[in-house]
Amino acid sequence: MPTPSNPLKAVRGTRDLLPPETALWNRVESIARSVFSRYGFGEIRTPIFEDTQLFARGVGEETDIVSKEMYTWLDGERFSVGKLMGAWESRPDADLPLTRHAGAGLIVYFREGTLECVGFRAKADAQAIQWMRQVVSSYAQKDQATNVRGKLVVPVGMGRLPEAFSVPAGIVVEEMAGNYFESSQSLTLRPENTAGVVRAYIEHNLGDSGQFQKLFYIGPQFRRERPQRGRYRQFWQIGAEVLGPVTSGSESPLRDAEVLEMLATLLDELGVKNWQLALNSVGSAEDRKRYVAILRDALAPIKHQLCPDNQRRAETNPLRVLDSKEPNDQALIDGLPKIADYLDESSREHFSQVLAALDACGVPYTVNPRLVRGLDYYTRTTFEFTVPSSADPASGLGTQNALLGGGRYDGLSEMLGGPRAPGIGFAIGEDRLILTLQAQAAADAAAKAGVPHSSQSHRDEWEAPKLDAYIAPLGPERNAAALALARELRRAGLSVEVGDGAFRLKKSFEAADRVARHIVILGEDEARSGILTVKTFASGEQKKIEQPALVTQLRI
Ligand code: AMP
Repeated sequence: MPTPSNPLKAVRGTRDLLPPETALWNRVESIARSVFSRYGFGEIRTPIFEDTQLFARGVGEETDIVSKEMYTWLDGERFSVGKLMGAWESRPDADLPLTRHAGAGLIVYFREGTLECVGFRAKADAQAIQWMRQVVSSYAQKDQATNVRGKLVVPVGMGRLPEAFSVPAGIVVEEMAGNYFESSQSLTLRPENTAGVVRAYIEHNLGDSGQFQKLFYIGPQFRRERPQRGRYRQFWQIGAEVLGPVTSGSESPLRDAEVLEMLATLLDELGVKNWQLALNSVGSAEDRKRYVAILRDALAPIKHQLCPDNQRRAETNPLRVLDSKEPNDQALIDGLPKIADYLDESSREHFSQVLAALDACGVPYTVNPRLVRGLDYYTRTTFEFTVPSSADPASGLGTQNALLGGGRYDGLSEMLGGPRAPGIGFAIGEDRLILTLQAQAAADAAAKAGVPHSSQSHRDEWEAPKLDAYIAPLGPERNAAALALARELRRAGLSVEVGDGAFRLKKSFEAADRVARHIVILGEDEARSGILTVKTFASGEQKKIEQPALVTQLRI
């Protein structure tokens, strides 16, 4: 029970984003939108929950995400009237005449001179009884000589009528034992958005245009991970995908390089410092299969020396061992075979063309032969952008230093039952991006002020910009005029807050100084003369301004 000393709180791993911090979120999103539109991307919004199958098939049953992190539930079991009718008709003791009329939720037949009307419903509520009453009376009207009886059949436990409600004469309620609910659909809160985008691409035949599609999304994703700084159970991703039929050029290494160059531009425009791009090629699906078998063999004799998590991965998803950050396992992992040595000619050539295009654009990168990423659908190019890790508090991320990740997924559409549609995409962890920007701003501010800074709270660095004006009505009788003035100023495009006539002038000044650049005083004199008193806090200057000139003055 929530109490004042123990009130309800946001669920573990979720959090509220509040002003002024949300101003930074909006700034980040608007810069992302601006960059995406310059590269020809359009926005897609897919549902937050999807059929569980989508992620099981798309992301992969063996991945950490699908095997242990998804929020999955069976969605509302549905009552099946057909099941209940069928069960009632085939009761061993049913003994029904062969001539009977069965309609939607209703069976009607004659027995011993009586017309029996049997209705089927999920429960015996007032509505159901009312419906039975109508059925009975309409048959009784048709043939007044016939005796008509009604029976309402409901699943066991559902026959209790609302209090103070009596069943009309001539109607009985019968409960049937058994389960009359249809098995429901398994749904999952999306743990990532690429599978949803590809599902939408298939569902809406987006490939029919013959062009590749450039789609971006911004929205929450859900994974039941152990919460820590930079890792949440509801987190936001800003992502984009380029996919289309092979003939559209969707497989070209140019697309990979363009996506990576766009990300470099986006991070630069956002002001992220010291980002690093690491990339690798995990080869075609066949290359991967071959390599995974070799990796499994190489892991077999050394498995017992690895940490329990890596021992499990060695069994279920050996590629994930390469991704491990477990310090004690690093030397062993470094000694494992490298995927680069098992790529076929076309994957190798593809990757070298991606690198050549990045060189031509001047985008810096390192090739990390151990980078595989945790989702099953990746083929060929995979990448990650990081900021300097925990050693540098300016990253703001602790050990969660991956800002974004992505890669090619040339077989995903087919895995989801769609046409061939190679593609490449990425997802930026927006929460981590914001933490990084806050930490970097705090580090800059501390450097300017010459004081050491801690990586803890950076909220204060992101004060929302001040409003243009605060209107202070002097006395409650000025409140209405204050609101009317605010309406005029807001319609002229100014940002305005209105005080309250019950405030003393000193309190109004204090409140105004906190939120606005100017205070506009609206007293009796001002109301009569139309000349307002305006104080500008930055300069301390106080002026009398005629109302028509007010907008110009407040913009200063
Ligand atoms: P993924 O979809 O796993 O490739 O992740 C892409 C990016 O999303 C990562 O690089 C992170 O920045 C971010 N991310 C993934 N999981 C979380 C999480 N639980 N909380 C916050 N950000 C996350």
